[in-house]
Amino acid sequence: MIVVVLNEDRYAYDIHSLVKAFYPEQEVKVFVQGEKDLKSDAGLPAFFVRFEPEAIAAGYQMLPKETKEPGAAKENRVVLTDPKDRIAVKNELKRLLYGLLSQETKKQLPWGTLTGIRPTKIAMQLLEQGKTLQETQTYMEETYLASQEKAGLSVDIALREQQILSGIHYEKGYSLYIGIPFCPTTCLYCSFTSFPICAWKKRVGEYLDALEKEIDFVREACRDKILDSVYIGGGTPTTLEPDQLDRLLGKVRASFDWTHVKEFTVEAGRADSITREKLKAIKRHGVTRISVNPQTMNEKTLKLIGRQHTVQQVKDAFWLAREEGFDNINMDLILGLPGETQADVADTIEQVKALGPDSLTVHSLAVKRASRLCQWIEENGISTLHNTDETMRIAAAGARDLGMEPYYLYRQKNMSGNFENVGYARPGKAGIYNILIMEEKESILALGAGTISKEVYPDGRIERCDSVKDVGLYLEKVDEMIERKRKLLSHS
Ligand code: SF4
Repeated sequence: MIVVVLNEDRYAYDIHSLVKAFYPEQEVKVFVQGEKDLKSDAGLPAFFVRFEPEAIAAGYQMLPKETKEPGAAKENRVVLTDPKDRIAVKNELKRLLYGLLSQETKKQLPWGTLTGIRPTKIAMQLLEQGKTLQETQTYMEETYLASQEKAGLSVDIALREQQILSGIHYEKGYSLYIGIPFCPTTCLYCSFTSFPICAWKKRVGEYLDALEKEIDFVREACRDKILDSVYIGGGTPTTLEPDQLDRLLGKVRASFDWTHVKEFTVEAGRADSITREKLKAIKRHGVTRISVNPQTMNEKTLKLIGRQHTVQQVKDAFWLAREEGFDNINMDLILGLPGETQADVADTIEQVKALGPDSLTVHSLAVKRASRLCQWIEENGISTLHNTDETMRIAAAGARDLGMEPYYLYRQKNMSGNFENVGYARPGKAGIYNILIMEEKESILALGAGTISKEVYPDGRIERCDSVKDVGLYLEKVDEMIERKRKLLSHS
């Protein structure tokens, strides 16, 4: 366990995130000096951060057993350029702490002090403020200590995102998300709202009734707005039967004005849920983009992570989708899966290249507390999860070979190797909704259990409202979920 002691309750969340990034396998506890619980850790080594009126000190010490005042073993200090500027103070604090942690662990983090999930949002804001590409890159490197490679990647992506989003109706526009929270089985690493379809089969009709109620509400409430994109995700939307897909997509199609819709995605997802009839239903309703997600093309890993489909099923589903006329197919991959080596990743990339999808989303495995993976790590050890610079480069090179460019990027907490998730796409095949949700530039109305709607105001403020995760509760309280959205929209 890593203990951090602060003399004031400031920036505790940022400090926790940065220390955790250096010690991903350890529990990190941040205390304010004098807190009762801290006494139980007396005698342990600890980092400390001391806020002074004009400076901050950070160091390493032993927590005393007897006295209240911990004695400093060694410390680094920074004199603040402007103690009243919260953002500047936070950045100076994080650089100070980064230096200390880097000395202790002999590690550099690819993203430097950036622990948030949207590093490209910063690059995008800088470009919008009129900074040049070089100035933005330098700012990312100097302010956040991001590596040259990652700073360059974030600038490159921000620029591409600006171009892709040029036709979006930010202020008057919105996007629609519909969540189908059912899956064939639960994957080892899953932390999404997902329930086994076998347990809910009899109530899917009721779920669609509830979604239709929500759709009717959005149709009325957003009558004066412009719909830019529609995304049906989950879960696994293709756990719905062909007639159920037909019903849902038909309702969506009939309820909105499609004049300005630039993208209609159905995340088909798991190969074990895809059939020709379902693809036909999806195609019939004008869906422009689908996903067929292998995560890995290694049979042994697929079994281990509980996907319950084979590599061959992925290939069959992919070719079936091509046969049915889908010309924009995304594939999701995860790097750092249990037991996978560099050679396994290289093999997956080669097999994916042979299929030739239109976009690839490459994730670094994130260990979420809500997932079964946590328990699995306790039993098998974290040393079986390897994501490295080299595997990231293998995936990037594979995407390049397929004629793709990186177009969106986000990070998650507790990611294997502290890397990032990157979306690559061929020209004209980027997932617009993916960028919109990451850059938070447009309001998104999200329907279904476990979804979160976002209202983005012209001044950049964002308000959110969520729906209950439990499907039974969602069915019971759908009217309340609609009221929450009504309230959210009434603020705009
Ligand atoms: S397919 Fe996705 S949502 Fe479903 S269980 Fe696997 S990770 Fe979770």
